[in-house]
Amino acid sequence: MTQRLYYENQYTKNFTATVVSCTEGKRGFEIILDKTAFFPEGGGQPGDTGFIGNSEVIDTVESGDDIIHICTKAVSGEVDCRLDFEKRFTNMQQHTGEHIFSGIIHSICGCDNVGFHMGEHSITVDFNCAVTQEQLDEAETLSNEAIYKNIPVEAVYPADDELCNYDYRSKKEIKGQVRLTRIEGVDLCACCGTHVAFTGEIGIIKVISMANYKSGVRITLQIGRKALADYREKNISVHEISALLKAKTEEITPAVERVLNQLQKSRYKYSLLKKEIFAVKANDTSGEKFIAFDDGGEAEDARIFSDMLAEKVGVAAVFSGNDENGYKYAITSRTTDVRNIGKELNAACSGRGGGKPDMVQGSVAAKREEIENFWNNINL
Ligand SMILES: [Zn+2]
Repeated sequence: MTQRLYYENQYTKNFTATVVSCTEGKRGFEIILDKTAFFPEGGGQPGDTGFIGNSEVIDTVESGDDIIHICTKAVSGEVDCRLDFEKRFTNMQQHTGEHIFSGIIHSICGCDNVGFHMGEHSITVDFNCAVTQEQLDEAETLSNEAIYKNIPVEAVYPADDELCNYDYRSKKEIKGQVRLTRIEGVDLCACCGTHVAFTGEIGIIKVISMANYKSGVRITLQIGRKALADYREKNISVHEISALLKAKTEEITPAVERVLNQLQKSRYKYSLLKKEIFAVKANDTSGEKFIAFDDGGEAEDARIFSDMLAEKVGVAAVFSGNDENGYKYAITSRTTDVRNIGKELNAACSGRGGGKPDMVQGSVAAKREEIENFWNNINL
């Protein structure tokens, strides 16, 4: 049974221990020490990393009463151990922040945390009931108030016969000694994880988003250092957008709306102009078949232009796009069933698509020269 130093002091970064066993496993050398400050993966919190001697610890997991360190090299005897404490502290911030937020949601909405995931950039918490926007805002405000109050985070080990006196949150039935994590006035929850000693160490709890999930909601949170990194990144984005739009940071939303409006108007004018150009070009055409290339055009352009051309020629084909990205095509006729032409084109020019007897549409991954070769050799 490994002695768990992280329950005696969760801030232990360095310690000396004796190797009990070291065997080669699938992911590396599996090292068991007589005591450890490395927290094993559990309750949504990832396993700790760091070094045992000169052997890197890539993960820590629990196996019965033992804690197994997954390491890159074999070690033996007495060893100096060092945690990646920056990572651990960030995990403690996330984990304790989750307690606060879940405890407050529990008291506001009466629902339980039924899922918790600590991702690389943010955490998600799942609740088994609906949460309104007002309740979410209130929970965020109260969570941060709990941080400002710098409340102690305590571990409580009640005797079995006392346990019924505690009203605590628990994710599952627990065998043996129950360890409760108490944040006075905020949360009481059965938990085996590591936590900061005072809520002030968390810094901030920010709700990022909420989505319906199963019969309840999934809430994404930014907590502690990760929240600062997120704020920094978003602040850079806001300033970059503000500079691009030549608008004050607090006015970027209406500025983006203006740009999108202008873009929509320009697109409309452009489509009118293009139709005029197509009409002029179509006017000058005649013959049994006709092919046109609309450089940089869209699928819609191909359809409109080929339809105009079909008034003047037997079969009209328009290819919008370019050699690099391929072409969208439309083949139109008032007199000939063009579906076979479409099939032959797809076969010859790596294309896909289809349609009705008077028009087929699709795309080809071929160069202009190949398309022209195909067109020159088809028999109508
Ligand atoms: Zn916990």
